[in-house]
Amino acid sequence: MHAPRHLDRQARLRASLAASQLDGLLVTSIPNVRYLCGFTGSSAMLLVTAARTVLITDFRYATQSAAESGHAADIIIDPTSIWSRLWTLLPELPVETVAFESAHMTHADAARFSDAGAQWHWRPAVNLVEVLREQKDESEVASIRNAIAMAERALERTVLHVKAGMTELDVCGRLEFELRAAGSEAFPFECIVASGERSALPHARASARVLRPGEFLLIDFGAVSGGYCSDITRTFAVGSANAEMRDIYAIVREANASASGAVRAGMRGRDADAVARGYIERRGWGAEFGHSLGHGIGLEVHESPRLSTLAESPLPAGAVVTIEPGVYRAGWGGVRIEDDVLVTTDGAEVLTSFSRELIEIG
Ligand code: ZN
Ligand code: ZN
Repeated sequence: MHAPRHLDRQARLRASLAASQLDGLLVTSIPNVRYLCGFTGSSAMLLVTAARTVLITDFRYATQSAAESGHAADIIIDPTSIWSRLWTLLPELPVETVAFESAHMTHADAARFSDAGAQWHWRPAVNLVEVLREQKDESEVASIRNAIAMAERALERTVLHVKAGMTELDVCGRLEFELRAAGSEAFPFECIVASGERSALPHARASARVLRPGEFLLIDFGAVSGGYCSDITRTFAVGSANAEMRDIYAIVREANASASGAVRAGMRGRDADAVARGYIERRGWGAEFGHSLGHGIGLEVHESPRLSTLAESPLPAGAVVTIEPGVYRAGWGGVRIEDDVLVTTDGAEVLTSFSRELIEIG
């Protein structure tokens, strides 16, 4: 049932290998292996040549690899070393120049090329598969929508329990429980739960800090469905928000809305970033928005394309990206509002539906 999808992806990869005069690609990124053949195990390599796709994995995955990838690859189970098996496989194939994923290999593994692999030409390559992964197909978008629905359900249920006097860890524990209860397969990253002045730390982990009335509570988290991630941030007020909190919140909310309204296929990542950044700068808080506007999500929570001051490439139709402006005032607190959007030629479809109003909880 999944066969056409994986075989289509392999065909697109083969076209790009042929265009670069490469006889094959050794895929060692586990998400890339999954994308190309459906295998979900944690130890494998995939060799894609013009004529064959071969998955090499170990004994633990014998049954699983046949079920998940039997339609999309020849499977070799090697009980001792997948690398040793590669050296006995390669002579059976008509290959001379093979690319490897230089961003997804240890130096120790790459050193094998000049030793056991010395008879082939090895070419470092980056992003050959990642570029294909930017444009999601219908099944991928459906999985992301599902991961968003799970995350939003979990957040709604968590918020009902949050009140001053709890610690960030209490909130985080509740959120993790609700994510599992909503059906999330995993946590795409450690949930960020940051209160008070800690909300100005863009990547704070939950701590034992106690929530107090009149301060921000920033929650950044996601769910996983069918291997695909969601990534959402909402910032709440514990008790009542004062005027200064409302003012900063409104700026971030407007920056988020203006970017969601402007993003469309063909726009460069840096121009998307500039929409939100320009607004925050005009309001006087440019120095307090020190990270990029967003990133692709999919099998990984951070993937191509990027929405940043350095991103020159146009956003492709079918990409799912985050839009996550923030303002962080050290020692005071911070606000981030992060949505997941589907990029289309007509604009961005905002997939997240959780309220973007400043909600006072507890
Ligand atoms: Zn996030
Ligand atoms: Zn994000």
